[in-house]
Amino acid sequence: MITLVESGQHKNVLFHDLSEGLSVQANQHVIVDGDRGMLLDPGGHKVYPKLLGEISSVVAISAIDIMVFSHQDPDIVAATNGWLMITEAKAYVPSLWTRFIPHFGVDTYVEKRLISVPDEGMVIKLNEKPMLLLPAHFLHSSGNLHVYDPESKILYSGDLGASLGQSYTHVTDFDQHIQYMEGFHRRYMPSNKALKMWAAMARKLDIEIMAPQHGAIFVGKELVNRFIDWVECIECGVDQLGGEYKIPS
Ligand code: FE
Repeated sequence: MITLVESGQHKNVLFHDLSEGLSVQANQHVIVDGDRGMLLDPGGHKVYPKLLGEISSVVAISAIDIMVFSHQDPDIVAATNGWLMITEAKAYVPSLWTRFIPHFGVDTYVEKRLISVPDEGMVIKLNEKPMLLLPAHFLHSSGNLHVYDPESKILYSGDLGASLGQSYTHVTDFDQHIQYMEGFHRRYMPSNKALKMWAAMARKLDIEIMAPQHGAIFVGKELVNRFIDWVECIECGVDQLGGEYKIPS
């Protein structure tokens, strides 16, 4: 557990070491304001009991008012039902995925607390503090959200900025870090057009930390800007397709 920012009654905490075995490393993020809490991309069934055990040192389970799911992948939403059962939280999900996430076993008793976020995003409040749910569609999911916390100036960027295989939690040397991001972004991000649209939006935000859902975080404007400049120029997804799919023999 790492405290990213703590100022007055506002706190941003990262759980980074709860994944195991073949499961891809995934970050779980918690935002606390006063005695109220918000949980981002809580993860799957193996992470669930561990996060449940550790999160109460940061915020009471009963005080988690909000969850946000950046998209529909299992490393984000598989344990949705458990979290909805033990909290009274509303879970904000991209509208595109509201009818699909219940297939992970969301009980009809709690499914009314799945809240659809429209494509254009929205502003919600944690303990009266605004939190921006930003459109980040096709990065990588066709319905995808990012969360911006104006108080701590953290952009929670979901799979964008993800890195796999590095041994550190904080990026220090951007050029050296590219090797851990490049393959993922080239294959999982479907189109450079979406990256350019995101970069234009991100440059309008005052970002001190960019915190992805996998791998290391970017602390400081210099590293955040290096990422924005890098990612908007990469060729990825369908941009790289050529030839035809071959039938295996
Ligand atoms: Fe994903």
